[in-house]
Amino acid sequence: MARIRLFIDHPLVAGQPVPLDPAQAHYLAGVMRLRAGDVVTVFNGRDGAWSASLLEAGKRGGSLMPDAQTGPQRNPPDLWLLFAPIKKARTDFIVEKAAEMGAARILPVQTDHTNSERIRQDRLQAHAVEAAEQCGGTFVPEVADLAPLSRLLDGWDGTRRILWADEARVGPAATLAELPPGPWAILIGPEGGFSAAERAHLGRLPFVTPVSLGPRILRADTAAVAALALWQAALGDWR
Ligand code: SAH
Repeated sequence: MARIRLFIDHPLVAGQPVPLDPAQAHYLAGVMRLRAGDVVTVFNGRDGAWSASLLEAGKRGGSLMPDAQTGPQRNPPDLWLLFAPIKKARTDFIVEKAAEMGAARILPVQTDHTNSERIRQDRLQAHAVEAAEQCGGTFVPEVADLAPLSRLLDGWDGTRRILWADEARVGPAATLAELPPGPWAILIGPEGGFSAAERAHLGRLPFVTPVSLGPRILRADTAAVAALALWQAALGDWR
């Protein structure tokens, strides 16, 4: 059994070599001590899981030969996570956990009480890739660039409902099983919560459902995981 799992952003076709970037080549040959002919599992987010053998790995990169598909492509339900970035380590945690929990897309949003003006999208995307490699997935959620919440809401396609984790509803947790299935997005605020203007705006939108995440105020990173779990259990692929 090939135990090492690697995300490769190339089409996977039997007999067509795929390139390794220098970091991947170093990981396989330098860290994991693989040699030519050794087998790993690769996935590209579209073509399922594949076994592939190492052709070569050096300082400038290398290549793998996909041999055969070993598992189907498994995509998560159509669930997005919108969250306001917080401190670096906690933001990394949210992206990692969202990928593990089966979010299909991760959208950092700037809210009135968001401190960070920019994010390292490439670094966050790399965290999502690593999470998928670790948890046996074949899908990697896209991490979008930071965008203002108000702009996203103005252009929102109302067929995707928004589950708004509203700290003002702290109390018995929402029962999501009564909500309609279909495309959803979860919205988690920053440590400072949502502003009065944001609350008014969200409250007017017909596609927004405010919910409680239980009787305690959770930190944003905890709230993200809790909301993803509730949704997956009630409407997603935990059923
Ligand atoms: N400073 C705010 C709390 C923010 S918690 C206050 O004291 O009121 C960060 C985010 O996590 C919130 O914006 C909300 O989206 C989510 N959250 C935390 N606990 C929650 C709960 N019990 N119910 C619903 N959402 C919650």
